[in-house]
Amino acid sequence: MRTLRIWRTLLGVEKTFVEDIDLDLESRILIASVRPMASKRNRCGACHKRSPRYDAGDGRRRWRGLDVGSIQVHLEADARRVSCRVHGVTVAPVPWARHQSGHTLFFDDQVAWLATQTSKTAITVLMRVAWRTVGAIITRVWADTQKQFDQFADLTRIGIDEISYKRGHKYLTCVVDHDFGRLVWAAPGQDKATLATFFDALGPERSLQITHVSADGAAWIASVVADKAPTAIRCADPFHVVKWATEALDEVRRGAWNDARKAARQNDACRTRGRPAADAPARPDSARAAGIKNCRYALWKNPENLTEKQQAKLAWIVQTDPRLARAYYLKEGLRVIFKLPPVEATEALNKWVGWARRCRIPAFVKLQKSIVKHRASILASIEHGLSNGRVESMNTKIRLMTRIAFGFTSPDALIALAMLSLGGH
Ligand SMILES: [Zn+2]
Repeated sequence: MRTLRIWRTLLGVEKTFVEDIDLDLESRILIASVRPMASKRNRCGACHKRSPRYDAGDGRRRWRGLDVGSIQVHLEADARRVSCRVHGVTVAPVPWARHQSGHTLFFDDQVAWLATQTSKTAITVLMRVAWRTVGAIITRVWADTQKQFDQFADLTRIGIDEISYKRGHKYLTCVVDHDFGRLVWAAPGQDKATLATFFDALGPERSLQITHVSADGAAWIASVVADKAPTAIRCADPFHVVKWATEALDEVRRGAWNDARKAARQNDACRTRGRPAADAPARPDSARAAGIKNCRYALWKNPENLTEKQQAKLAWIVQTDPRLARAYYLKEGLRVIFKLPPVEATEALNKWVGWARRCRIPAFVKLQKSIVKHRASILASIEHGLSNGRVESMNTKIRLMTRIAFGFTSPDALIALAMLSLGGH
């Protein structure tokens, strides 16, 4: 009897009797026969109210528990059904596992913790489960964890963002807390109705307590915010604004690359076939095309992070392609504005807009128009200091997670993983 009580501690089960232990050394499987204590028996699976027994269900059932050394542990018990007055016939819950789960609570928690800390391979090999199962487990664990916290407590400054997953075919709408740098809410979809469910969950009273909302400038976000949180100041996420500039710059770079390639091809057409002679003239256009193709990172990175090689590349662009260089300075100029004190930023932004308007680079003239359109929200974000790196780093982390979560069948598992990792629990 004493040994069985020790087993209860070893298996990490509560309100449970361990009736028998059966160890099969050959298959290295340990089966613990268990049953819930009287107080936990015959309850409804949905409401946990005591209900009359219905039948024996599918007979004995097994739950996977945490391994003991290299021995795989399973709990085995009757899976009786009860008949609830409200919910009808349900399988009675057991104190060692979540409802409709094939794993014990300890097992679930360990998998969920590992999912937030380590790689896909580490979990699946260490815990000996399929990646899909991990998805199902973390979804369950998050559903339980969610009930224990008030996700929306003390929200005042939030950021709203759309993040693509499933190779860019589907989207999540995410809400982050600027002050504590945590993920507050996420749901599949990218439209007004999706975002409205967030404000509905928050409730009208708390929606009015939101003082600042930052977003990427999408019209649908702005319209929902104006409707549901009319008192909040709308800010443009500096991170997104700089991304627009980077995209415009990349468009210019691609244009320059294509031009150089075209020139190279025209020159090459006059050449004879076969290997060029040793004294053949150099082909400056081909070299140029290759150079522009390789300068992508030099143009992308912040100047203070450039390697020596990339700095040289940048200098080469400034010398050989004034148009691309101009585009680069326009991007950098815009990025620096977000680091200025509010008073200087307003003037700098005006100057930047004037400069971009006259730059004769279509991509930046177009960018200038969007900047003018979002001018108020860009300045609001500088004034209220919403340009913090926390939200940006969270963005990066969620994007990384969407890649890890690719094998999950439902977006719920991805949301659960994101919330468990970044929700601040
Ligand atoms: Zn019930």
